[in-house]
Amino acid sequence: MLPDAPATVSLTSIPVRRPGRRPRGTVLLLLADTGGGHRASALAVARELVRLPDAPVPHLLDPFTHAAPRPVGWTVGLYSPLIRHLPPLWGALFHASNSRPALAALRATAFRLLEPGLEELIDALRPAAVVSFHPLVNHAAARVLRRRPGTPIPLITVVTDLVDVHSAWICEDADAVVTPSPAALDRIRAAGIAAERCFDLGLPVDESFTARSATGAERRALRRVLGLEPGRRTVLLSGGGEGSGGLLRRARALCGAGLDIQLVVICGRNTAVRDRLLALQPEPPTTLHVHGFVPNMAEWMRASDLMVTKAGPATITEALCAGVPLLLTSHIPGQERGNVDLVVTVGAGRHVPGEAALVDAVAELVRPGSVALLAMREALVAASRPEASAATARLISLLAARAAVGPR
Ligand code: UDP
Repeated sequence: MLPDAPATVSLTSIPVRRPGRRPRGTVLLLLADTGGGHRASALAVARELVRLPDAPVPHLLDPFTHAAPRPVGWTVGLYSPLIRHLPPLWGALFHASNSRPALAALRATAFRLLEPGLEELIDALRPAAVVSFHPLVNHAAARVLRRRPGTPIPLITVVTDLVDVHSAWICEDADAVVTPSPAALDRIRAAGIAAERCFDLGLPVDESFTARSATGAERRALRRVLGLEPGRRTVLLSGGGEGSGGLLRRARALCGAGLDIQLVVICGRNTAVRDRLLALQPEPPTTLHVHGFVPNMAEWMRASDLMVTKAGPATITEALCAGVPLLLTSHIPGQERGNVDLVVTVGAGRHVPGEAALVDAVAELVRPGSVALLAMREALVAASRPEASAATARLISLLAARAAVGPR
């Protein structure tokens, strides 16, 4: 029995109906809240679907929370403490599971636990298409859809690993695979997925990040709105949805350097680090602004001159679109390994693994008239793919409509 399925569906849906139009069914967007990137991409696509005339209405769902036996949900919940406190252990798990034999074992065991809840949900919702934004969901969704009688429901996977794509993204039964980069596309193709099923559209990010890069005047206006000093150099430090990547250490280094900056630290769901940072006294003239999870990351990025972060795929892609140069401090072992090189190669950021290098880079780049900062801003614009969400929504809508018509 699926726990409170109807309530879940309406609770997690985006409740928008275009006046005067009958929506063409629903589309189920599946994700898991490991980090913040999967949900961010799913929401971005959902918003675009809502806008498209006659596209199916999106329903977002985390099957680990709402359609899996409790112990499975708890196991997935270990991701956050693991990447915060034991990243090497997470890296070992990533690599141990990252092969065809390991994947076959997972398909035959853990992934199956998701199937009954997912099946019940799909029976209740009868979506026109199912879209997976999480590698742990693909295979259960594919099996459930394959054994359903009647008109086939297309499965679309949206790969959220930027470069080092985990084997769980290789899902032979997917009707379409959206990749975030040419490197990810190569990996999917090399694993044998047919070219006509692959669409290299970029990683979907919310449109609030994709307006053209903020001008100096807009940055100042936004800072005022956000409670910052409008005319001061602003450096944003974050560590993804879980606030990982040594935030405390790096914030202390920046606060102790006496730089003429206002430092904004966004701690995500890491309330322990947030509470410790709230007690930190920065060395003047530095000022410090500390926040937990914020819903308006685009505004914070667009108000900043520079962003310091771990190499999260969504954060990188958002920063490229928002036009804020990156200093990448670290990466989660496994899925984020190649992301630093990607950013450094296109000239949109630098790799600063140690605190001393971080402080030096910030001091150099916030200097008025920094040519290096300007060059990074130009590189960001060239590397960004602001159309990704709209293009992904169009693809989903098209496949859903085609499935409704049936094979020709
Ligand atoms: N994010 C947010 N509010 C916060 C912290 C993070 O909305 O307070 C979002 C951020 O904008 C991005 C996502 O969470 O969309 C983080 O994704 P990323 O892939 O960078 O890292 P993850 O959290 O998945 O490890």
